[in-house]
Amino acid sequence: MSTSEPLLGIDLGTTNSLVGVFTPEGPQLIPNALGSFMTPSAVGVSDDGTLLIGQAAKDRLVSHPDKTTARFKRYMGTDHEVRLGKKSWRAEELSSLILRTLRDDAEAHLGQTAERAIISVPAYFNDVQRQATMAAARLAGLKVERLINEPTAAALAYGLQDRDAETTFLVVDLGGGTFDVSILEMFSGVMEVRASSGDAFLGGEDFTDLLLSHLAKKSDLKPEKLKAEDYSRLRAVTDKLKHKLTEAPEAGAIFSYKNQAIELSISREDFEEVCVPLTKRIRLPIQRAIADAGLKAQDINRILLVGGATRMDCVRGLITRLFKRFPEHDINPDHVVALGAAVQAGLAARHEALDDMVMTDVAPFTLGYETAMEIKRDTYEYGHFTPLIERNTVVPVSRSHTIFPIKKGQDRIEVKVFQGESPFVKDNVKIGNVTIALPRNKNDLEPVDLRFTYDNSGILEVVAKAMTSGEEARVVIEGNPGAMTQADIEARLEALSGLKIHPREQQENTAFLARLSALYEGLLGDDRMLVGGFIREFEAALHSQDVKLIAETRNALEDPVSRLEAQDVF
Ligand code: ADP
Ligand code: MG
Repeated sequence: MSTSEPLLGIDLGTTNSLVGVFTPEGPQLIPNALGSFMTPSAVGVSDDGTLLIGQAAKDRLVSHPDKTTARFKRYMGTDHEVRLGKKSWRAEELSSLILRTLRDDAEAHLGQTAERAIISVPAYFNDVQRQATMAAARLAGLKVERLINEPTAAALAYGLQDRDAETTFLVVDLGGGTFDVSILEMFSGVMEVRASSGDAFLGGEDFTDLLLSHLAKKSDLKPEKLKAEDYSRLRAVTDKLKHKLTEAPEAGAIFSYKNQAIELSISREDFEEVCVPLTKRIRLPIQRAIADAGLKAQDINRILLVGGATRMDCVRGLITRLFKRFPEHDINPDHVVALGAAVQAGLAARHEALDDMVMTDVAPFTLGYETAMEIKRDTYEYGHFTPLIERNTVVPVSRSHTIFPIKKGQDRIEVKVFQGESPFVKDNVKIGNVTIALPRNKNDLEPVDLRFTYDNSGILEVVAKAMTSGEEARVVIEGNPGAMTQADIEARLEALSGLKIHPREQQENTAFLARLSALYEGLLGDDRMLVGGFIREFEAALHSQDVKLIAETRNALEDPVSRLEAQDVF
């Protein structure tokens, strides 16, 4: 193996993925075919069966929900498959498509082949999830030199100063859909993850959702009644507003709907107020992590903010108030993990990679059961997921809930056990069930004690005990069913080799056309006519298949298009 062969540093994120390399000038990120460092972790199939990866897939999430998928990192290390059009996909395969795109982008940028990588994974990933990440890399034709914990990567990006000094880090990572808190301890050149905590149901996307409901209520829009395209436009406008608020004290936009121009606006202060239910949930996991590590707030030497959503003022303010000092955030929080992976790649090339270990055993998935919710009197809706052992809980652990039948006189309860991070069981993985007989009782709801016990080997014991009769039902669920065998990987590799992937050279055009359509949908009157003209002009250029003409047309339209785009946000 030649030393000049590049070693990639990859952040394979739930929402966005990035790739970088270490250069003599330090770690550097590599832009994708659209010129962006961030590639959305989304995959879709187009109508002609071609695979769309990244931004183009993300843009179709709402308009083509059954042909597009995202957030599949949550299923790494499980047997859960996602259906896209005609084929079912494992999380490893979907992740491999993202890795392959990153690899193609890196090769195009560096002008040489790149087959080796360091990939970051959440600190709480267990062995099966780490193996799954390696399998994904293998499917993408990449060899994983080593994995690095995401918080460790963040610390590396910020610089360790003295590798032999003892330093305690708190890494707060609020991404698109997950909130992870890690306590790292660095000593004698080794990084240890001392505690890990978080909230698997909290991320930047939840802030967008909440802002959307707030804005909708203010302007008498009923989000649930909107057509998919309209909803997706409203969400895009809301997301833009949310981002804008991190730079300006106020943000506004026009949402055109049914030939009306609806003005949406919000101040940072109001946004903060709206988000209280979410920001409230940030404090507890931080306190828990510090306590789990046996520390006090003042023992923390450095506080690092990671993940796009930590840009929000309300998040920064909260951390500052909690610790009475400012957290470090001078490295772009979207980039920091990938930059750190690239730093590790640089160190590995010199055989100086930082050793990082996970000391705490934690539950890698949330474990819970299905419940029904009373939506109106005597009408129940099944399919809700109630967590009993949350992801990141230190194991071994035993927790119980008291549950009740829905109706009086019911003679049994069937408890369906799931693992996963979605509030709906349909998006989680069913891992077993247990049925408990109840004593006949026409007058009362018979209570059942439901206990989950989870140990270090990944075995879950579920015991349901009818409290009045003392009768018990028990099931033991084997851990780690989700690991792919070598033979599985070979078979999937074979299947993947025949896939049609949307060509890299065309991504820019597809994305530009999508941008024009989005702009068209968002405008009214003369501006809309104007953009309609742009679309026809660009389509004609595409039709000619003349690469030069296409690029010229795109360049010529760039200015008026970005002017019109800027107009809708005041
Ligand atoms: P992940 O680690 O899950 O892949 P990222 O770290 O890329 O996620 O974070 C994505 C989230 O960050 C999204 O919810 C996005 O809306 C949010 N985000 C990015 N930039 C900003 C900003 N300027 N203001 C508010 N939120 C932002
Ligand atoms: Mg991340």
